[in-house]
Amino acid sequence: MRHRIAVVGAGPGGLTLARVLHHLGHPVVVLERDRGPDSRPPGGTLDLHEGLGQLALDKAGLAARFRELSRPEGQAMRILDPAGTVLRDWRPRPDERANPEIDRGQLRDLLLGPLDVRWGREVTRVVPGDGALVHFADGRQETFDLVVGADGAWSRVRPAVSPVTPRYTGVTAVETSLDDVDTRHPDLAELIGDGAVAVYGVNRGIVAQRNSSGHVKVYVQLRAPLDWHAGLDLTDVEAARSALLALFDGWAQPVRDLVGRGTAFVQRPIHVLPVSHTWTHVRGVTLLGDAAHLMPPLGAGANLAMLDGAELAESVAADPDDLDAVVRAWEERMWARAGRWAAITTAGLERLVGPDPATALALFDEVQSS
Ligand SMILES: Cc1cc2nc3c(=O)[nH]c(=O)nc-3n(C[C@H](O)[C@H](O)[C@H](O)COP(=O)(O)OP(=O)(O)OC[C@H]3O[C@@H](n4cnc5c(N)ncnc54)[C@H](O)[C@@H]3O)c2cc1C
Repeated sequence: MRHRIAVVGAGPGGLTLARVLHHLGHPVVVLERDRGPDSRPPGGTLDLHEGLGQLALDKAGLAARFRELSRPEGQAMRILDPAGTVLRDWRPRPDERANPEIDRGQLRDLLLGPLDVRWGREVTRVVPGDGALVHFADGRQETFDLVVGADGAWSRVRPAVSPVTPRYTGVTAVETSLDDVDTRHPDLAELIGDGAVAVYGVNRGIVAQRNSSGHVKVYVQLRAPLDWHAGLDLTDVEAARSALLALFDGWAQPVRDLVGRGTAFVQRPIHVLPVSHTWTHVRGVTLLGDAAHLMPPLGAGANLAMLDGAELAESVAADPDDLDAVVRAWEERMWARAGRWAAITTAGLERLVGPDPATALALFDEVQSS
């Protein structure tokens, strides 16, 4: 029996669900708000864990191609103190494959492959009934047997199953970037190394992470009210730069340069859903990834979204007769796993951007040794 399944959102979670369904011979429709795959910058690099994102790619038949594209050397991590002293310098073994990095754009293209994505289809709401009725921003409507909300933090599908909305964590990030770092900023290339460098002070930090082709994303992390930059126009590059640098007075010059040489600044406040967010099962509608379990961005969100998608696809393909029972059982599994990671990442954010930088270092020591 072929169910009509719609996936809302062509992020890592939605695309993995669709790609595994496709791999297993089940038709699927992907509805995406963006006008096309390149209509906005894809964002920074992602590390995919062996037992999570990599496992999901394996289920999609894409493990070999991932190995060719990914950057195992990107697992390198260096921690500095604000004076610029190197506290830790982890480098992966040549055969280390636990968490290699891949650019989001490369991952998206890998997953897209033969999928038929309907671009420019913004969903405004989903109404459960006999299956689920999808309403689009352009006024159209369409019914499916199952609608999967993989539409991220501010999901428009979520209200069909849960009244909960994300809350601000008290930590915000400001993102900037450096291009052609090896030629234009060789001193900073050296500082960052092959992977990432992180510097933690009191209630703030700076993280710089290599993407492919010499591109580096730099994140200033601050424990501050959501309106901390009231009166400051972050699109005024000079004003943004000097306001940000003022927060890092007394920090070593090379560390300040990671921010000071940035050419555009974008605020990305960190919001989360409650740890262990669940809902009363609703026939015809479910959620995965950030839409279901938005958590602090500490390297788990895309991994979980992908494994959610891969496992749902496998369950649907394995037992196509009772779609509702399959979704119910899968939700229980997803909630349990996501709850564990939400607790870990929530505690992690408290330690990384908090009053005592020693707790940040201790967290890295625990993660690196596990
Ligand atoms: C700075 C940063 C670094 C991170 N690093 C990592 C990392 O290294 N590893 C990791 O695992 N995670 C990381 N994360 C978390 C990760 O980015 C997210 O958890 C992940 O992208 C969630 O995937 P998703 O598919 O659930 O949702 P999203 O990636 O948010 O995708 C949602 C999709 O739905 C579309 N959409 C939204 N609304 C609608 C609508 N109404 N109609 C139709 N389409 C819609 C969007 O355009 C988008 O394409 C990081 C996050 C941040 C902010």
